[in-house]
Amino acid sequence: MPQQNPLQSNTRISCPDCGNDIDFFEVADDVVITTHYVQNEDGSFSQQEDNSQVLGQIRLICGECQTDLSAFHDRFSEMVF
Ligand SMILES: [Zn+2]
Repeated sequence: MPQQNPLQSNTRISCPDCGNDIDFFEVADDVVITTHYVQNEDGSFSQQEDNSQVLGQIRLICGECQTDLSAFHDRFSEMVF
């Protein structure tokens, strides 16, 4: 029996419910966004820096049927370039 090429057999994530392997959403719960502003002489504000912190879980969701694919999230993260 010929060996399968691991690059072709195992690296693509597909939704077990609908088979979608194209569209995925990463959803973060409880995100705190802190933005630092400095007020200028004329009363206007300038944005200095943007800081966002995820306190909750990060989930991976199927873009077609919204099934929770968080079990694949580690693999997903490794494949994001
Ligand atoms: Zn799906």
